[in-house]
Amino acid sequence: MSKSFDMIVIGAGPGGYVAAIRGAQLGLKVAIVEREHLGGICLNWGCIPTKAMLRTSEVFHLMHRAKEFGLKAEGIGYDLDAVVKRSRAIAKQLNSGVGHLLKKNKVAVLMGEATLPAKGKVSVKTENGTEELTSNNIVLATGARARELPGLEADGDLVWTYKHALVPKRMPKKLLVIGSGAIGIEFASFYNALGSETTVVEVMDRILPVEDAEISTFAKKQFEKQGMTIREKAMVKQLDRGKGKVTAHIEAAGKVTKEEFDTVISAVGIVGNTEGLGLEALGVNVDRTHVVTDVRCRTGVDGLYAIGDIAGAPWLAHKASHEGVMVAELIAGGHPHAVDADSIAGCTYCLPQVASVGLTEAQAKEQGYDVKVGRFPFIGNGKAIALGEPEGLVKTVFDAKTGALLGAHMVGAEVTELIQGYVVGRQLETTEEDLMQTVFPHPTLSEMMHEAVLDAWGRAIHY
Ligand SMILES: Cc1cc2nc3c(=O)[nH]c(=O)nc-3n(C[C@H](O)[C@H](O)[C@H](O)COP(=O)(O)OP(=O)(O)OC[C@H]3O[C@@H](n4cnc5c(N)ncnc54)[C@H](O)[C@@H]3O)c2cc1C
Repeated sequence: MSKSFDMIVIGAGPGGYVAAIRGAQLGLKVAIVEREHLGGICLNWGCIPTKAMLRTSEVFHLMHRAKEFGLKAEGIGYDLDAVVKRSRAIAKQLNSGVGHLLKKNKVAVLMGEATLPAKGKVSVKTENGTEELTSNNIVLATGARARELPGLEADGDLVWTYKHALVPKRMPKKLLVIGSGAIGIEFASFYNALGSETTVVEVMDRILPVEDAEISTFAKKQFEKQGMTIREKAMVKQLDRGKGKVTAHIEAAGKVTKEEFDTVISAVGIVGNTEGLGLEALGVNVDRTHVVTDVRCRTGVDGLYAIGDIAGAPWLAHKASHEGVMVAELIAGGHPHAVDADSIAGCTYCLPQVASVGLTEAQAKEQGYDVKVGRFPFIGNGKAIALGEPEGLVKTVFDAKTGALLGAHMVGAEVTELIQGYVVGRQLETTEEDLMQTVFPHPTLSEMMHEAVLDAWGRAIHY
């Protein structure tokens, strides 16, 4: 006999488990189905384990600078197995935490592979057989996986995806990273800091191509100072795999050059987990591996919603979670606001960090805004100098007519923690006047956020 629920969530990543908990908080009888690991990619193979590894490389980098801080550190080295062990233990801790939260909220958890045999029905293949569930509200939160390009497929030995790169058995000596989005750059930063000779190849005209062009240029210079090789407007056409080495054919400006590496990380985007669910038979519109939805995550099939990575860009955990909350509230009869994609910050936890929200200067101009742009360099900030982090930039983009904050862009130490100040500002529809009137504590890096606003109106004090 099938079990009936008010809401069934498929996939327990940051989209799915948050939707399930919010639904349960609102009094719904909720089930969640997960085929692999509670917490999804984010907690197990994405956001969290990468940040654990990047913390290692950051501390390692600082240890090499010990003398600058009046400290002595000799014989600095690392134990790769221990680095990986720490990262995996943190992922495990959070994975257990999600299990605990679901239990506390009385969400029924089914470990198994879900399919949708008919409207309102979910079939779950578990270790103990198949379970049939029914509900008028089904939330697809099945996420995404690494995109594999023909000829550049991962083999786990010489060519890695993010999963392999998170559990390396050896440190690459000469590493090629294909793709310079957040995932590619974070791995490039980690391995470069630990001593791999690292080359990043990006097909677009600049690295971190979704960021403001000035921020990309600034970040590139910093990476090059750290010894990375950056090749823009270049494409890896072919990988010849040999014994312990890969020959990459790299095309740039119409010329193909060959270069040898011992490891390649392919970070060329992601594809949605849409296949095998039965979406075609239900009439769900899937466009280039992502489920098409309206602004409230409705698929067009009555009672079927899609959230998070499977529902398209931006492919970020906090976007997935926010959509999860919105959909649960909708199902419970509420009238939640649609998620505003333009006010979702993007963060890259490389060295130096990069963070942004809203429109870049170029996008704002393309959209016809008359812009006022403010900039403030880290070198003008006392706290940045005291921290030994004088390299960085904060940039703001305003609508000159209304004073609306159109976008904010940062590169430098701790900017991933700072960006939320501007996100709150955008959410509250702040203008330059509100931001200028706000008192920022001293000494903090956040003072640069104030100065970058003041600068847009020619009023910066410290630069
Ligand atoms: C290396 C890396 C680093 C990242 N770093 C960040 C970061 O710093 N910040 C950030 O915001 N984002 C980051 N991301 C992206 C982030 O991980 C995703 O945006 C987020 O996990 C999406 O959440 P989701 O709930 O949509 O899907 P997922 O987390 O992918 O979860 C989907 C779940 O559904 C399950 N599933 C799939 N199909 C079925 C089925 N048929 N039946 C049952 N279960 C199923 C899967 O097993 C999975 O557990 C990173 C990603 C990677 C790969």
